[in-house]
Amino acid sequence: AVVTRFAPSPTGFLHIGGARTALFNWLYARHHGGKYLLRIEDTDRARSTEPAIEAIFDGLTWLGLEGDEPAVFQFARSDRHAEVAAELMARGHAYRCYLTPEELAERRQKAQEERRPFRIDSEWRDADPSTWPADKSYVVRIKAPREGETTIADLVQGEVTVKNEEIDDFVILRSDGTPTYMLAVVVDDNDMGVTHVLRGDDHLNNAFRQLVIIHGMGWDVPVYGHVPLIHGSDGAKLSKRHGALGVDAYRDEMGVLPEALFNYLLRLGWGHGDEEFISREQAVEWFDMADVGKSPSRFDFAKLQNLNGHYLREADDTRLADLVAPRLAKAGYENPDMALLAQAMPVLKVRAKDLNELAEGAAFLFAVRPLSFSEKAQALLTDEARSRLAGIHERLSGVSDWNLEALEACLKAMAEELGLGLGKLAQPLRAALTGQTTSPGIFDVLVLLGRDESLARIGEQAD
Ligand code: GLU
Repeated sequence: AVVTRFAPSPTGFLHIGGARTALFNWLYARHHGGKYLLRIEDTDRARSTEPAIEAIFDGLTWLGLEGDEPAVFQFARSDRHAEVAAELMARGHAYRCYLTPEELAERRQKAQEERRPFRIDSEWRDADPSTWPADKSYVVRIKAPREGETTIADLVQGEVTVKNEEIDDFVILRSDGTPTYMLAVVVDDNDMGVTHVLRGDDHLNNAFRQLVIIHGMGWDVPVYGHVPLIHGSDGAKLSKRHGALGVDAYRDEMGVLPEALFNYLLRLGWGHGDEEFISREQAVEWFDMADVGKSPSRFDFAKLQNLNGHYLREADDTRLADLVAPRLAKAGYENPDMALLAQAMPVLKVRAKDLNELAEGAAFLFAVRPLSFSEKAQALLTDEARSRLAGIHERLSGVSDWNLEALEACLKAMAEELGLGLGKLAQPLRAALTGQTTSPGIFDVLVLLGRDESLARIGEQAD
């Protein structure tokens, strides 16, 4: 059975590339009826933080990509990693190397001066363990093969071959006894029963080194799939350095819905014909690594926004009201009438692309009289407009059934009598009702505000 994993290092927030890796692993496992596991690679003690771990779990939960089992924490498994290093030594696939950092630096320098490639060529590689000093500091190095070549049949990259002489005797256990990343990943993947390693292609080179450990232990080789990294719209590599690109930023600052980001990330490097809107269920049905492209995809914010607009229009109005309320509170509209907010969603979401726009659009509903006006709205409220508002106030006061049809009939009749376009009435009316020059349709605005509030707002500006 298929077992995949997502193995983030908690040294920063869950960035967009990481979220996509998680998504591909989740989808691959779901598609094949397998398992998807989480591993927190917290071995870098100085840089791993609790808030980062929280942010990763939080972002994954938000996207619906929680692991199928409780997450494995890598640092807690250090003893096991050291045990495997010892086993590799016992099998003759690893050795204690007593070369000091100074000696290595010297050799590196010399190679550079002589313009030849440097390779760790430790005299300890073939030393008999009985000659290992007991009281000197050492690291444990893997004994990498020097002849032949290694080929990986990568699900995305195809067959990739590397000459074994290019693989160095890398360190698996540091002089303080702690395991390196290279060792920990392999041991954990094996112990967790991982069958498919799907990750960013910045790890492709590591795969060849990791294979040395796997072969040394005689473990099953996983299937690899190295996905091209996401690039920015400028073509430059996206990275954690692009601070604004944490999943939490899309959620909190940009007001993106999780299903929109899910759909967007899915289409970033993978596609199913021309399908643009793909549900979770369809994604599970259709996803395959074979359809992941070999070239990096570019992050396109406008596309994400368009998708988000689509999902806003599909979303349940009560849910949207819940998401918009905190944004209104931030703008100073505390404890909004939630029923009214939900009721306004159908007309607000027609044009909105994110939750912020929804909140901005909804704000007029909860404004307290006297309203404040945008500059443009203020400019519309001329003397002429104010006297017209008085007329409108009078006419609307006579409307007994405060609904779309009645209001529309009333204002249309008035415009006709005055020989004016409806817009001439709607413009100052919108300004008086919302303090803005853009809003949902004027009749929707009247209905949402209700009779009393509408007449009060008009009355305040009428002259
Ligand atoms: N922890 C590594 C990273 O964040 C991933 C290791 C792996 O997927 O093998 O890049």
